[in-house]
Amino acid sequence: MEQGVIRRTKFNLPQGFLGEVARNEREGARRGADHASERLVTRHPAIEESATPRAVAGYSLFRIPYSLQFMPLPPVYGHADALAMLAAAARAGNLSQSLLVHGPSGVGKERVALWVAQLVLCAQPGDGGPCGECRACRQIDRLEHPDVHWFFPLPRPDAATPEKLRDKLEEARGAELAARRANPHHVPQFDKAPAYFMGTIQNLQRLASMRPSVGSRKVFVVGDAEAMVPQESSPEAANAFLKLLEEPPADTTLVLTSSSPGALLPTIRSRVLPIRLLRIAVDEVAEFLVRELSMDRAEAATLAAISEGAIGRALRLTPGAGGAGALQRLREMGRDLLTAALAESEAGRFAAANAVAPSGARGEFSGALAALALWLRDLMAVAAGAPDSVAYASAADEALLRKLAGRPGVHAAGVAHAILRVQEAQELASGNVNPQLILANVLGGIRRALA
Ligand SMILES: [Zn+2]
Repeated sequence: MEQGVIRRTKFNLPQGFLGEVARNEREGARRGADHASERLVTRHPAIEESATPRAVAGYSLFRIPYSLQFMPLPPVYGHADALAMLAAAARAGNLSQSLLVHGPSGVGKERVALWVAQLVLCAQPGDGGPCGECRACRQIDRLEHPDVHWFFPLPRPDAATPEKLRDKLEEARGAELAARRANPHHVPQFDKAPAYFMGTIQNLQRLASMRPSVGSRKVFVVGDAEAMVPQESSPEAANAFLKLLEEPPADTTLVLTSSSPGALLPTIRSRVLPIRLLRIAVDEVAEFLVRELSMDRAEAATLAAISEGAIGRALRLTPGAGGAGALQRLREMGRDLLTAALAESEAGRFAAANAVAPSGARGEFSGALAALALWLRDLMAVAAGAPDSVAYASAADEALLRKLAGRPGVHAAGVAHAILRVQEAQELASGNVNPQLILANVLGGIRRALA
């Protein structure tokens, strides 16, 4: 066995994170930041050791020094067409006052919404959009602009009265924003299901009714706007928000984001200009992982391939983002599926499908399909006589691929066909079809292609 072709999957996110912290610490010192003051951020493995736990509104919170804050937002990766269109509209002076940025989950909708905030408030926008250098642009990059208000669904805090609830919701939003400020790649994790409550909308309305504090306009980013539906817990929230959309103050821009725009109230949908974002290129996701997380290039390429053109998906699979071993687990799922597809017994294929796709785990299911596609891609390379072009995660993986490629029915054209079957299944998986059925079918299809 050649050692040179064996690479172990590992991530250096914590080291990358610390590198960022060190950089920001220098930046903080350069700007004479007040090192004495402190703010709250949520749990991150890199800061746990020296931090003191504190619980607010169901979050695990830790105090870290002020100097460790201020990781500016990463630039927007991909979406060049959408940004160009928005910049052109702003230049012509007809950027809509109410926008809906929609597209697949994790594709960067809220980042683009914050870019729109920069576009609106930038002191010296160029042809391509905001300058990125003026005070307003930099404040937005640090999530610190007083006229940019970022809202997102939150779990319901315990509160005795509606007034207390409003306060606690605003406090929880502040804590979550602090976490995003400290780590823009932070992936929120809540104990309870997040939602928009009447108290949140009242806070939003109050801010919307006030004059901008530094500029001429204020911008509201309302993430996951589909969560704003009449629900048992807060039947009035969606209607109260609708009132704001019907008559927004003249100095206010509203940018909603949603990965399921069909779930928005039709009355909300009809009042916003839709901006559609597509999945970005796998290369751009990889570039993000290398540049922003200091990830090794080979690892970034693997993770990007599984992420389906969505940086947010890639982030959810990195160990530091709470998904310790998630990528490894997905790879193992992909391996088990491939093995099951090539097994003799149909019962075995159904069992494998059921093991991977429990009901309600749609996100993991589509990840497993992507992992299966990756295994097939590697198998195709080995079957086509290019085993050295594969970055094997382990010696066992390499041995398995070589063994499968040596089977009589397995040849590159058949594997290419099997990859197409998986891609079709990925299309179906985003719809309403039962995951187990899709998987059992795709495994049968692979079996036929490679028999
Ligand atoms: Zn600017």
